[in-house]
Amino acid sequence: MRRLLVLANWKMNGSLNDNRQLLDALTAQWQGQSEVGVCPPVVYMAQVRDLLKNSSITLGAQDISSAVSGAYTGEISATMLAEFSCRFAIIGHSERRQYHAESDAIVAEKFIAAQKESIKPVLCIGESLEERESGAALEVISTQLKAVINAVGLDAFNEAVIAYEPVWAIGTGKTASPEQAQEVHKHIRSLLGSTGDKVQILYGGSVKSSNATELFSQPDIDGALVGGASLDANEFTLICQAADQ
Ligand code: PEP
Repeated sequence: MRRLLVLANWKMNGSLNDNRQLLDALTAQWQGQSEVGVCPPVVYMAQVRDLLKNSSITLGAQDISSAVSGAYTGEISATMLAEFSCRFAIIGHSERRQYHAESDAIVAEKFIAAQKESIKPVLCIGESLEERESGAALEVISTQLKAVINAVGLDAFNEAVIAYEPVWAIGTGKTASPEQAQEVHKHIRSLLGSTGDKVQILYGGSVKSSNATELFSQPDIDGALVGGASLDANEFTLICQAADQ
């Protein structure tokens, strides 16, 4: 049985005050048995680690450098993140691919860098609206995933998470239907061979309390990567509770 995982991606949101209020409410309201993690902007890593110290909620990063150290202005290494008890790193989010031109090759390097410090990569893959409408969704997913499998090998996925995030559903309010998401998740699992049974495959794209239960009831959906709704303590609590059921 795969445990459900719900990860909050705060993106570039939050403040010292807002973070405290959000996490005070979340830790008071939710003490379930699912795996829950929060990925704040990196500048708040120490604050969020301290606010979560008496809870089972873990800490993640929204990105990671492929480099170990040196002259990489603005980058944050896996070693640095590990010092702050960081357990997950989102890798290849569509916003990084789109605004920072991250290729599949760079994404694979980041995957390797994270695992070297025992940080679980959360590999994001997903098709654009144009690709879905032209019937190429599964092909695009295969290309993105195989690029990383070829670089790291299938065994590496024993210590990784995959997030299927259709680009057209991120921050748009449009969610893939549970059936559409299930079809892609099943396809992703099939590409992972015998490793696939153990890998948590999350869905991401406008997940909210009103659609979480139905998405989580699909056999190959093992939780969610949540953007907008993770900034609202009540909404995010309800999503975590849906995962507990
Ligand atoms: C995301 O950015 O990973 C995401 C899923 O965002 P949202 O939930 O806001 O669509």
